[in-house]
Amino acid sequence: MSTTLAGGRAARRQTMRRIRPRRSPAAVLLLAVGAGAAGVLWLWWRNTPSIADDTGRVLGAGRITGLLAGYLMALVVLQMARVPALERRVGSDRVARWHAMSGRYTLCLVLAHIVLTMWGYTLQAGRPVTDIVRQTIDSVTELPDLGKAAIGTGLLLVIGLLSVGGVRRRLGYDTWYHIHLLTYAAVFLTFWHQISDGNDFAVEPAAQTFWYGLYGTVTALVLWYRVLTPVRLNLRHRMRVEAVIEETPGIVSVLISGTKLHRMGAEAGQFFRWRFLAPGMRFSSHPYSLSAAPRPGMLRITVKAIGDHSSRLRELQPGTRVWAEGPYGALTAQRRSRGKVLLVAGGVGITPMRALFETLPGAAGDLTLLYRANSTQDLALWDELAKIADERGARLMYAVNSPDGERPDISPESLRRKIPDLDRHDVFLCGPPGFAQSVYEALRGAGVPARRIHHESFEM
Ligand SMILES: Cc1cc2nc3c(=O)[nH]c(=O)nc-3n(C[C@H](O)[C@H](O)[C@H](O)COP(=O)(O)OP(=O)(O)OC[C@H]3O[C@@H](n4cnc5c(N)ncnc54)[C@H](O)[C@@H]3O)c2cc1C
Repeated sequence: MSTTLAGGRAARRQTMRRIRPRRSPAAVLLLAVGAGAAGVLWLWWRNTPSIADDTGRVLGAGRITGLLAGYLMALVVLQMARVPALERRVGSDRVARWHAMSGRYTLCLVLAHIVLTMWGYTLQAGRPVTDIVRQTIDSVTELPDLGKAAIGTGLLLVIGLLSVGGVRRRLGYDTWYHIHLLTYAAVFLTFWHQISDGNDFAVEPAAQTFWYGLYGTVTALVLWYRVLTPVRLNLRHRMRVEAVIEETPGIVSVLISGTKLHRMGAEAGQFFRWRFLAPGMRFSSHPYSLSAAPRPGMLRITVKAIGDHSSRLRELQPGTRVWAEGPYGALTAQRRSRGKVLLVAGGVGITPMRALFETLPGAAGDLTLLYRANSTQDLALWDELAKIADERGARLMYAVNSPDGERPDISPESLRRKIPDLDRHDVFLCGPPGFAQSVYEALRGAGVPARRIHHESFEM
């Protein structure tokens, strides 16, 4: 590991308030979700007089999977409503992982619901099981709202297939994102058959009220946080591109001016989804972290060109209108539980780390930043980092490949050699998934408890 240490000048000593980390409400939320699922099963139990024969058992299983799919579908949409309590306290990347996982379960439950219900209807009609396709066509064409539900299910299937890792990477973010928006249409189309005549909700008024309440609340949250809140934010702060600065080959910083930007409630370590109203970019909004602490009249992002959107930022002209949604993300000072902090950045993962390095309260010697890049030429923002380290008495280290391309050693031993009291640090980590995983394992091996490793991924 190559190392430079910066520090020495009278460091800015900040009064450390007692550090009380904010606990993630993840466990409570999972309990609430489990309680909701149990309530849904209880509803089925209440409305089921007997499951004496095969037909009753198959239809019962069909109803259970359908109820759970409907419940989970509402949660899948809720997870993407960008509710600040979820985004800031649980973390956007974790919520996104929950969303992807719930989406997969929902799709499996929907498919199981269709097969079991149609199988049950086939038995009920006294037809042989081989007639299940014919029965399905009859049900879709004859039963109320099933035609809409079939179209919705088709959309869900397409979205699910396009979200599979390899397919999704080939699509590019923009295409995938816009196709993904069709989830709202799919949920809307499948909703109505859930409350049609003969279903659990039609015979149980209290349950119907609960179901309308669940879907109504989710719809209201989506409208509030994904539509009205961004409109208000952008009308109030009126952001524009101020300048575009090349940091290293392939990495640019975009300075964004606006009014009262410090009132946006953004913190170092957070990100916004940015839409630049320039020709060809109006319909794309991409997440980029703040690479400097927010100032009253200026925000800054720093972006590595890897695809269409990120490569076009260098062409932005001063004065271009900017539309932002956020702030999102939980990789902030509020996660901290210790006086000493190690920040670890891999590549362009330096952006939130740079903002935290500047702003995390701490006395001289409390903060250390380890920056991993391929070569010293790739260390974007290095001069600024060195200046911050110098002013704050913080340690700044880099780890780059050797001239023959060998990767630096980031192991429990090498980390402990550089930072002997590492196990008494909080660690903030941001970088590509492979790098983040190997650093996480090295940190755990060096004795840092999992609860003190705070990680945010740039994966979407
Ligand atoms: C919370 C968050 C914060 C981020 N902050 C920053 C930041 O401060 N600076 C910065 O440069 N980038 C950041 N990113 C990543 C950035 O959003 C993407 O690089 C960018 O949106 C890619 O869009 P594109 O149109 O340029 O590439 P696309 O054309 O969509 O993709 C080009 C290729 O890159 C792959 N790809 C796209 N996005 C990612 C990704 N996030 N991770 C890995 N591979 C990807 C695609 O699968 C495709 O193969 C952040 C991402 C997230 C989720």
